Amino acid sequence: MKISDFRSDTVTKPTKEMYEAMVKAPVGDDVLGDDPTTKELEKLAADMTDFEACLFVPSGTMGNAIAVRVWAEEGTEVIVEEMSHLYNSETAHLAVISRVMPRPVKSNRGMIDPEDLRKSIRFQTEHRARTSLVCLENTHNYWGGKALPPEYLEEVSKVAKEHNLPVHLDGARIFNAAIFLKRDVKEFTKHVDSLMFCLSKGLSCPVGSMLCGSKDFIEKARRVRKMLGGGMRQVGVLAACGIYALRNMVSRLAEDHLNAKKLAEGLAEIPYFKINPDDVETNIVIVESERDPEEVCEKMREKGVLALPFGPGRIRFVTHKDVNEEDVERAIKVLKEMS
Ligand SMILES: *Cc1c(COP(=O)(O)O)cnc(C)c1O
Repeated sequence: MKISDFRSDTVTKPTKEMYEAMVKAPVGDDVLGDDPTTKELEKLAADMTDFEACLFVPSGTMGNAIAVRVWAEEGTEVIVEEMSHLYNSETAHLAVISRVMPRPVKSNRGMIDPEDLRKSIRFQTEHRARTSLVCLENTHNYWGGKALPPEYLEEVSKVAKEHNLPVHLDGARIFNAAIFLKRDVKEFTKHVDSLMFCLSKGLSCPVGSMLCGSKDFIEKARRVRKMLGGGMRQVGVLAACGIYALRNMVSRLAEDHLNAKKLAEGLAEIPYFKINPDDVETNIVIVESERDPEEVCEKMREKGVLALPFGPGRIRFVTHKDVNEEDVERAIKVLKEMS
């Protein structure tokens, strides 16, 4: 049976061109600094994001964990958005690897009010830990792929700068934000001190994420990556896919956004679902379900359509390179037949 897989954009398979790039890539031992393809990817990512340097890391989670570890001294507080991936879905590396205290702050669609941010910043006293870092997420996964505009990042950066705090951006899907808002990715990155983005999601690489920052930041990050066991040897075979993706797969994300919108419009017609298609901006569609999400997903699975139960009363669909308009129509049809 054909499978239409809406569970995540991480399920994307490499393209034929990526496999070809893998075969052709010159490689060396990257831990010894000998892998020309990885160096090329790191240089390309730095140019595209306007940072001094970048580091290829095995996963987005490791990229975020490294960033927090480099910025935040042990025993300090790190401000995170309440629904962020970094705080909710990265198995507590803030506590375990960085030994810092997360201070979750609520937001509207991933955007912490700058006044709330200001109020959450703490100064060290005999009793209190100081704030050492502010983390944001763009696009915001659990808020349904919302894109945060550069102007908002600028406001946050202003508050952070007043208090001498660095800002780390979990930009797992920053290119989705850039494409949706029709802005260059540099307009976002100029307001933050470090960025992590994923090659392994909508950009369709098999593995890998990039961590970007100043030369000094990346030098420290390289040491932490090694400490965590993320120093990889002939990793140019993977970096080659990243180079291909950054050059060729970014503008394609607009198709995913169109498919997500179509899917949302279809889901809005299912009687036991609640969704406003206007809320869907990028490639993530979160729908409220009156029927048990586990049961709905199981029934869809029997018909070859995959999506994930997403907390109580919610189901998440993600569009990506490997689902097209036909898959969207099929998903809607299957759900209509179930009602
Ligand atoms: C997927 C994701 C990550 C982590 O990436 P992995 O490569 O799965 O570790 C981090 N942040 C956000 C917002 C994500 O969606």
